[in-house]
Amino acid sequence: MKSTEIQQLLNEYPLVKNLIELEEIFWFNPCNTTFKEGLPFVGLDANDVGDAEARLNRFAPYLCKAFPETEATHGIIESEIVAIPTMQKTLEQHYGVNIAGKVLLKKDSHLPISGSIKARGGIYEVLTHAEKLALQAGLLSENDDYSKLFSEEFRQFFNQYSIAVGSTGNLGLSIGIISVKLGFNVSVHMSANAREWKKQKLRSHGVNVVEYKQDYGVAVAQGRKEAEFNPDCFFIDDENSQTLFLGYSVAGARVKTQLEQMNMVVDEDHPLFVYLPCGVGGGPGGVAFGLKLAFGDHVHCIFAEPTHSPCMLLGVYTGLHDNICVQDIGIDNITAADGLAVGRASGFVGRAMERLLDGFYTVHDQEMYNLLGLLNRDEGIRLEPSALVGMVGPSRVSGNFDYLNSRNLSVDKMKQATHLVWATGGGMVPDDEMAKYLDAAEI
Ligand SMILES: *Cc1c(COP(=O)(O)O)cnc(C)c1O
Repeated sequence: MKSTEIQQLLNEYPLVKNLIELEEIFWFNPCNTTFKEGLPFVGLDANDVGDAEARLNRFAPYLCKAFPETEATHGIIESEIVAIPTMQKTLEQHYGVNIAGKVLLKKDSHLPISGSIKARGGIYEVLTHAEKLALQAGLLSENDDYSKLFSEEFRQFFNQYSIAVGSTGNLGLSIGIISVKLGFNVSVHMSANAREWKKQKLRSHGVNVVEYKQDYGVAVAQGRKEAEFNPDCFFIDDENSQTLFLGYSVAGARVKTQLEQMNMVVDEDHPLFVYLPCGVGGGPGGVAFGLKLAFGDHVHCIFAEPTHSPCMLLGVYTGLHDNICVQDIGIDNITAADGLAVGRASGFVGRAMERLLDGFYTVHDQEMYNLLGLLNRDEGIRLEPSALVGMVGPSRVSGNFDYLNSRNLSVDKMKQATHLVWATGGGMVPDDEMAKYLDAAEI
């Protein structure tokens, strides 16, 4: 971007200056609408999410057999929600704000198979593709017991096909593991930020890992290129895929059931706030969509990003979406939050979801480490840095009366609020890596 263009952008959008200066900011979205008004702009609806749910149910017998760790949940990939009362007190002290209501943690960090939120979208898209191929070949019908896919015959069938994806690490991990299990040839194009152990783990599974010295955008472009020249290669497009998005969205109805089982009420007088770490946007966007379908206007979704990679905030705030990247305004996209190290947001998620999101904020890398250390100390839960950006949310919301008033959220309602911090990854981080993260915490 030319300096005159940046100046123009700054004149129109003053917060861009704070972004450039890598400040932690909180932007409440003035374009937020009611659920009813915003829904038509998504281009997907409850039927699409229902289809995804049904597909995952069809595959449950397969997953149960192929991944014994999913036996306990009968082949359904789901994580638990836990209260974190000691951490809640620590957050109040740490930020000097009273957090009314209750803070809960959604442990997608400990999802089976790949230990991150990507075990939702990534696995779902590979299953969707596998089902399509097997149905077309007449090897499968929707009424079959899908555990038959766990066989040499099917592995050989899928072995004629390949899958490619670009990733900062966790998407590659989930797509790599499920693809190899089904029998596909799979290439994961990894950005420079991707952790070494994630690459090694994939190679040990037999995945073709291609490494880049550049960031996520380049890794995705290369994956796309590989697939273009091979008609039997399916490219999973993290920047635009509605299938990935739908895989994530299934979480909404499940959270509703989980909160009901915990006797947590969500209604007009009991607001639910959900804090979602955002990279390219598919994960948090899909989850937020599912939550909106489940709770309507009673859920308030807020996206969180590193100060070095605020691509979604930048895209939605300026209305430029994927026509601008953080590098355009001189931000480096280098962060310890490898899962969020994305310079250009999805072309689809911001446009589809902007009316249904309450706001966006950014967090310093050091703050992620500090929260990582505090959560380990107080609750014995270990996450990767990306997964901690949501932890800042409850204090930012609770202290901001302009925002709360604008959404008609009175003090009485806030006393009955639920704050759900979405922990997106960390369950598979090796001990020596985790020790380094814990060392980086200044607590
Ligand atoms: C991928 C990822 C996210 C964000 O998901 P996007 O779809 O990229 O927005 C958040 N946290 C972790 C740990 C991730 O791996």
